[in-house]
Amino acid sequence: MSTNMQKDILVLNLEEQMEKSAERQFEKKLADCTNEETYYVLLEVTSELLKVSEPISGEKKVYYISMEFLIGKLLSNNLINLHVYDKVNEILQKNGKKLADIEECEPEPSLGNGGLGRLAACFLDSIATLGLPGEGIGLNYHFGLFHQVFKENLQNAEKDPWIKEQSWLEKTNVKYEVNFGKKKVVSRLYNMIISGYDSGVNKLRLFDVESVDESLVKAGITFDKKKIEKNLTLFLYPDDSDEAGNLLRIYQEYFLVSNAAQLILQEQKERGYDLRKLNEHAVIQINDTHPTMIIPELIRILVEDKAFSMDDAIDVVSKTCAYTNHTILAEALETWPLKYLEKVVPQLVPYIKELDKRIRAKVKNDKVQIIDKEKKVHMAFIDIHYGFSVNGVAAIHTDILKDSELHDFYELYPEKFNNKTNGVTFRRWLLSCNHPLANLISETIGDGFKKDADRLEDLLNHVDDEEFLNKVEAIKIGKKKELCEYISKHEGVELNPDSIFDIQVKRLHEYKRQQMNALYIIHKYLEIKGGKKPTRPLTFLFGAKAAPAYVIAKDIIHLLLCLQEIVNNDPDVNKYMKVVMVENYNVSYAERLIPACDVSEQISLASKEASGTSNMKFMLNGAVTLGTDDGANVEIHQLVGDDNIYIFGISADEVIEHYKKADYVSKDYYKKSPVIKEAVDFIIGKQCMKVGHKENLERLYKELIGKDWFMTLIDLESYIEAKDRIFADYENRDKWKKMMVTNIAKAGFFSSDRTIREYNRDIWKLK
Ligand SMILES: *Cc1c(COP(=O)(O)O)cnc(C)c1O
Repeated sequence: MSTNMQKDILVLNLEEQMEKSAERQFEKKLADCTNEETYYVLLEVTSELLKVSEPISGEKKVYYISMEFLIGKLLSNNLINLHVYDKVNEILQKNGKKLADIEECEPEPSLGNGGLGRLAACFLDSIATLGLPGEGIGLNYHFGLFHQVFKENLQNAEKDPWIKEQSWLEKTNVKYEVNFGKKKVVSRLYNMIISGYDSGVNKLRLFDVESVDESLVKAGITFDKKKIEKNLTLFLYPDDSDEAGNLLRIYQEYFLVSNAAQLILQEQKERGYDLRKLNEHAVIQINDTHPTMIIPELIRILVEDKAFSMDDAIDVVSKTCAYTNHTILAEALETWPLKYLEKVVPQLVPYIKELDKRIRAKVKNDKVQIIDKEKKVHMAFIDIHYGFSVNGVAAIHTDILKDSELHDFYELYPEKFNNKTNGVTFRRWLLSCNHPLANLISETIGDGFKKDADRLEDLLNHVDDEEFLNKVEAIKIGKKKELCEYISKHEGVELNPDSIFDIQVKRLHEYKRQQMNALYIIHKYLEIKGGKKPTRPLTFLFGAKAAPAYVIAKDIIHLLLCLQEIVNNDPDVNKYMKVVMVENYNVSYAERLIPACDVSEQISLASKEASGTSNMKFMLNGAVTLGTDDGANVEIHQLVGDDNIYIFGISADEVIEHYKKADYVSKDYYKKSPVIKEAVDFIIGKQCMKVGHKENLERLYKELIGKDWFMTLIDLESYIEAKDRIFADYENRDKWKKMMVTNIAKAGFFSSDRTIREYNRDIWKLK
């Protein structure tokens, strides 16, 4: 029987399948199962459907290699992609259950930490949806990054276990040996099936170490960093503030690429392909520099095991590998001391030296050498010299790479550079997280937008249709109410759904400037204390994890939590404003926050945010952006026009000029402006000291007036002005509703389907 027929039969008999599964697993009728048991019923039935779905195949395949895949919960998305969401919903209702309650029981896989991992997940969805043969290759971290818990207004890190007896992971019998010099570990492959919307299925390949030992983790997230065979896949990005942490990162990276190389070459062999034509059957997309060692590793294998000459090996590998750059923050462009690599992967070092030698022979410029004078290896430089494509992730980001950050490389290889503005999958970020909005759009312009996101523009024909605008508004209020209930239950804070929801959710980093938002909140608090009440109550929501070793980032979380305590408990103020920093921000939380948002905070220091993707998700759900002209905000701005976005702050060019001249002195801004001074001083004032810790608050205060590397104070006054203006405009309800609809209508460009079509057209060339 063809897989399609098997699938159709399963779908026809879905209810019977669910009853059977309930009987088999729990010896119960479906109606008598608990929500958690029902989840396992759906997991089994949905996995069965995925298994009989048509695998996508083709002569050439893309391997998307990434240290992170922040995939989020999978049940709902799989049901939507398999076109059985409504049917399952009906069956559950008949049995007295709600799909939303069942979803709550699914653990969220913790296989990523932020935008980069989430992008990889959106890409897998779009690759499958477009029917392209492609696989993700990553690691099966047992405890993720960490589970964030707040205690005494501080971030605490605990492990984040998510792997249960039954999950979306399929254990395979594929095992490889991975060598670290003389040390050897055995890996095992797990697969996750990735469904496309109305399409076939691909796979996410996740490697684990066979001898992994969860009991190695003691208090919080501490463990013996030297026991490689036991710890390699316990955590994503272990604390890299010491040498053992740095070495562990390299162990993880090599573990990933060694497995990836073995998997790819084995597939070539099984399909009878000639390795000399590797690039005709495989393209490897390197997601940021972490998997860079795939290049020397493949070259090494071809030379040592497959009798290639060095020239031939380098040639074919270079034609197979493409690199995506995600950041221009100098500290994030990985460099490893050669001596670390000698310790962890001595077998690769001669190849890295050879690659370096060949560039030295060709190019005299010191700034493009792979191994620098301090014997540090620049991972990105390996990718650029020995890959065939280098892409940035938003137009302005790619321009900055070409014009300044990687300018010397651009002069060498102009043909390699290209832009691929990021996107997000609309299946998760609209169809799944906002059913009422998706349904309203379908009623209004038809279903076409689900496969062709540009169709959303048809909504522009309805910006003067009052009935439609009111429906959009009602959906937003409904989503705000749902969020209020959730936050009441999970954070213990009561919010007012009639207030303006202003939301900043993203990793905590100084360049993203959560501290600037905090200073605005202080400013507003003091204004209200002084008798100046806002027209409408304001709700400021945050969600963010800080890297455990990033001290100032944790201090900023501390300040936000202190402000939450001060503001929410002040009877003079809490009628007019509230602050909530939600605990353990993750994909599931994002899916609740984003549909409920009015004002989307995208306030990075111009030139520093490569793209951002939460800006796209917010826009798609009818939030209006308050942002700097940075990353994909620039393209949002161009698409919606000046009237439907609030842009403030100095430009990327000005920022770059300041860095060049080293002429930014934050203290000058602090001294010059009483508004700035008052807000900054509040950090070490009596009220904060009472609820917070002196050490953290003083350190943050000193950082802001003594250094402020990401120029918070330079933009603070224009931020306050723009934010007051957007809040005032919210009262012009007609104007606001039109802005909402215009943002939704123009979001089509940011579908990851568009992004993946471009990757395929310009880089992968799969069909
Ligand atoms: C989209 C997303 C991000 C990326 O947010 P940015 O604002 O683009 O940095 C991070 N975390 C989660 C959970 C997301 O869903």
